[in-house]
Amino acid sequence: MDIDFNKNDGLVPAIIQDANTQKVLMLGYMNEEAYLKTNSTKRVTFFSRSRQRLWTKGEESGNFLDLVSIKLDCDKDTLLIQANPVGPVCHTGTDTCWAEDNSENFGFLSRLEGIIESRKKLSQTEPELRKENESSYVVSLFDKGINKIAQKVGEEAVETVIEAKDSNDDLFLNESADLLFHYLILLKAKGFGLKDIVKVLEERH
Ligand code: AMP
Ligand code: ZN
Ligand code: ZN
Ligand code: ZN
Repeated sequence: MDIDFNKNDGLVPAIIQDANTQKVLMLGYMNEEAYLKTNSTKRVTFFSRSRQRLWTKGEESGNFLDLVSIKLDCDKDTLLIQANPVGPVCHTGTDTCWAEDNSENFGFLSRLEGIIESRKKLSQTEPELRKENESSYVVSLFDKGINKIAQKVGEEAVETVIEAKDSNDDLFLNESADLLFHYLILLKAKGFGLKDIVKVLEERH
């Protein structure tokens, strides 16, 4: 990426946007090293002007920003970075640095969608860069591809049907959860999310 680091002492502003809710989460600065580290680790890393060193957001709090995409603006001096926040982004504890609520429309399901999105990105990353998550079931599903994921949805649907006919609520709820979980993965594998389905339903309404 042909970033112009020369305008501002080797730094460019990086606007951080939630990949799911599209809310602006925070602003930081990157030098070239921070940019390269962000790309290789898939965790947003800035250059801290106050501490004069690389700063991986979340290094103390655990509230990392999982990288989804990086875009360069028209004159190559500002980055727009889409990420999935692991927790509240601001060090004051609020969801964004403007004290905004980053609550996704579907509550916990949206958080789950964010995690699934991160796993999808990992599946598109070279194997040597994803050691820490190599045992992730979701990554391995994405690795196998859409046909396999769709087949899993079919299996879980059948299991849900079988348990619906039985009287055991617990088994029915568990198979329903399996079905919904794999369905979210299938949606993401196809490049969609819950909001796309809700849109279709609303248009029908
Ligand atoms: P963290 O990177 O979340 O582990 O936070 C480490 C330190 O970085 C905090 O104690 C703050 O000084 C600073 N910090 C964290 N998040 C932000 C933010 N969103 N904007 C500015 N400074 C932050
Ligand atoms: Zn610009
Ligand atoms: Zn803040
Ligand atoms: Zn099942």
